[in-house]
Amino acid sequence: MSTVHTDIVTPAGKVYEGDVHMVCVRSKDGELGILPNHLPIVAPLEIALVRLKHEDEKIVDYVAVHGGFIQVSRKSITILSEAAELKADIDVARAKKAKAEAEEQLSTLHKTSQGYEEARLKLKRSELRLSTAAIDDSIPEA
Ligand code: ATP
Repeated sequence: MSTVHTDIVTPAGKVYEGDVHMVCVRSKDGELGILPNHLPIVAPLEIALVRLKHEDEKIVDYVAVHGGFIQVSRKSITILSEAAELKADIDVARAKKAKAEAEEQLSTLHKTSQGYEEARLKLKRSELRLSTAAIDDSIPEA
């Protein structure tokens, strides 16, 4: 097995840096599982979980990545996003509060109203944070 150097970077700083065997992301065109020596690509990302699989298959790092881009070169992978959090760094109480706020906003807005899209994205981010924080990583992936 081989590895590829991978960074996840946000305006607030570097959220992740490591040598991993496979990076799994959800691009706007669908799921991508990127191995070392992948063809160079740049792809826009959905608000979705990123899984970083290590050579020891029992070890997987989970990061909530809220959109942005993945850039793949022969030597490295970089994910650039406005916001991203490692599973362990997610504040669940804050995400629950944000989810409730977004739901409250959406309940008062029409799809065409100003602020609807913003509230929809806030809801999506909060749901991703909650689902990422809830992952049980004590059981290795198959
Ligand atoms: P909130 O209303 O709680 O700020 P939000 O979805 O509007 O939620 P963002 O604008 O996506 O927040 O994020 C602002 C910054 O706060 C980013 O750096 C992001 O990583 C961080 N952040 C937001 N929510 C959480 C959370 N639940 N746990 C840890 N970091 C968070």
